[in-house]
Amino acid sequence: MFDRLPGLLRRGPSTTSRVALTFDDGPDALTPRYLDLLDDLGVPATFFVLGEFAAKRPEMIREYLRRGHQVAGHGYDHTRFTKLSRRQLLDQCSRTDQAIGGQLSGQPWVRPPHGSLDAASILSLRAAGYVVAMWSVDSCDYGDHDPAQLAERCSPSKVSAGDVLLFHEGQEWTLEALPRIVTALHAAGLELVTMHDLFAR
Ligand SMILES: [Zn+2]
Repeated sequence: MFDRLPGLLRRGPSTTSRVALTFDDGPDALTPRYLDLLDDLGVPATFFVLGEFAAKRPEMIREYLRRGHQVAGHGYDHTRFTKLSRRQLLDQCSRTDQAIGGQLSGQPWVRPPHGSLDAASILSLRAAGYVVAMWSVDSCDYGDHDPAQLAERCSPSKVSAGDVLLFHEGQEWTLEALPRIVTALHAAGLELVTMHDLFAR
């Protein structure tokens, strides 16, 4: 399992009370509702966006940032990085970074589509200076459309300090589950931060 190799960000320090919410595959038509909901809940998140979608909705990229969220790349068109040559992989990442715009101060971040990595793609990303962001708790919201099940999978009994929670954009059931998840994590004394802040020293 290459995604278990050290050096990939999967889980932050357990010495704080922080956890991170992350949302993949946007931006899309439901993004404004995700942003309004997160505003209502008062929590920041990290959005791993597709370059082709970011290029179509540049105003949404600005809106993520304006509301205090972290934005990073998730490939240009969601092709698995393991299916790409080194040149194609870096082309996908740089085109996505361009679509995100000038927000990438410091080291660029990327989350591989499907979490698919191999030794070659990891080496290519590292050589190009990318922080490779994985996750430690999968809500499974891509396949499971039951908000109650999503909330259970992300309940305080399953989540602890340092965890990175994986969700996806564009899904009504994810929106429905989020208030319950955030309320329960807050009640358990956990603070929700961006993935960048979770790993900041
Ligand atoms: Zn994805």
